[in-house]
Amino acid sequence: MTTDQTPSRYQVIDYKSVVDGKIEQRFAHIRDGIADHTITVTSEIDARDLIAKLSAWLDAPRLAARETADAVEWVTEVDETVMLLHTSAGEWGVRCVDRGTGHVDTNWFTTERDGRGHYADLRGKAICICGAEVDEDEIDRSGDEPQCPKCVAAAVEAFKATKFTCVPLDGPGYPGGCGWVGTGADITDTSDGEPFMCPACDHLTVEEIRQ
Ligand SMILES: [Zn+2]
Ligand SMILES: [Zn+2]
Repeated sequence: MTTDQTPSRYQVIDYKSVVDGKIEQRFAHIRDGIADHTITVTSEIDARDLIAKLSAWLDAPRLAARETADAVEWVTEVDETVMLLHTSAGEWGVRCVDRGTGHVDTNWFTTERDGRGHYADLRGKAICICGAEVDEDEIDRSGDEPQCPKCVAAAVEAFKATKFTCVPLDGPGYPGGCGWVGTGADITDTSDGEPFMCPACDHLTVEEIRQ
């Protein structure tokens, strides 16, 4: 936070957060509130105290809602029960209850995706980009996003149907494209991504035909 010190007060002129987006939003809210209502504080200590109080005030409904969270799903395993919780304030939680000691451990998330991801993780499962939950060893993590077998199969089908052509590479010493046109079904080696190996001239000169 940058403050502009005047003899009698601090005015918030810029604020840059190093914490997550949700908290940053909350602080932006506080900053706007201060700007709109011209709240005057006389020292940095007072400013921090005000922020702490306003934060507590803003957090109160969200924290209170955690007390009455609904259990959306749960599984009971040999030594613990794992629950997926959802609060009226929109937060998602994952709670582990140790069946022996009764110890309770809860993690809270702002999005359903993160909550379900953690819930899956604790049970040896994983969430696909399509939202499906599958066993951890069934998820394909070779791409940018985790994919379930169904999504992998759909991606393979889509690739097979995509049109490709063998195009000349620029630059001295490079082989020219042979002009082959076909579909992904004809391409055998896809390991390194585009450009692919041309099935006609065996050069890495095959690229998708983009409309
Ligand atoms: Zn999927
Ligand atoms: Zn070729």
